[in-house]
Amino acid sequence: MKVVYTISEVRELVKQYKRDGLKVGFVPTMGYLHEGHGSLIKRAKDENDIVIVSTFVNPIQFGPNEDLDKYPRDQKRDEEVCETYGGDVMFLPSVEEMYPEERKTTVTVEGLTAGLCGAKRPGHFNGVTTVVTKLFNIVLPDRAYFGQKDAQQLMVIKKMVRDLNSPVEVIGCPIVREEDGLAKSSRNKYLGEEERKAALVLSRGLKEAKKAIDNGEKVSKNVISIISDVINKEPLAKIDYVSIVDINTMEDVEEIGSGVLIAMAVYIGKTRLIDNIILE
Ligand code: AMP
Repeated sequence: MKVVYTISEVRELVKQYKRDGLKVGFVPTMGYLHEGHGSLIKRAKDENDIVIVSTFVNPIQFGPNEDLDKYPRDQKRDEEVCETYGGDVMFLPSVEEMYPEERKTTVTVEGLTAGLCGAKRPGHFNGVTTVVTKLFNIVLPDRAYFGQKDAQQLMVIKKMVRDLNSPVEVIGCPIVREEDGLAKSSRNKYLGEEERKAALVLSRGLKEAKKAIDNGEKVSKNVISIISDVINKEPLAKIDYVSIVDINTMEDVEEIGSGVLIAMAVYIGKTRLIDNIILE
């Protein structure tokens, strides 16, 4: 596996891959890789000749009071995980490499970013869509892989690619969970022992919601109450939002039909975790 740090090095490699007629799959991440990232890398390897994984903690997608400075980093571990799942190239640009001069361009996807995490993290999705556009322009992938773990992000990027005619196929991959149900996340590292147990309220809430819906419950606000009750019973947990939205518009739905996303963000102590399920 190759490890590169500059845009010109990646461009050179990709130029050669394309000359050789190879298909390039791309997995953008913020590093501190785990099995969730691994599943994306493996899927990319199954469907392409070459897999490029970027790890870049993108400062412009963090708010002023968020965890940019303490976001976990471990390059050696990332290289091991990447290689284990079949990555061919790791691209680890510095902030200076990605943002060498004052940036005057921002990519914005409207509407889909108004609610959920977009409402709670102003500017977050502009940071995401801007950096993903830059990374797509650098890596020129045939396919790019994103997790359903960040369901709103996945839908926003799909929309961006359609609107901008980007020559990339965006592929969504299912959420990988710990055995007890907690969605894998780099941020799980922040959790102390008690918090780790408390964090199960997210997946438990979703499970209770699914059970109620399977038993015929159709009213969104009742389902939101069921989830909120599970979470509010846990003293270490504080709800940021629990929403039920149309998967295509990200707008609230009153009644649960098909194509619905049940999404939440919950603080466990100081750590903000997200989870969701999609009802197809
Ligand atoms: P991150 O490093 O957290 O920005 O995540 C990079 C990519 O990995 C995003 O597309 C995430 O949705 C995806 N991802 C993170 N955690 C998981 C997970 N538990 N299961 C599947 N995909 C994930």
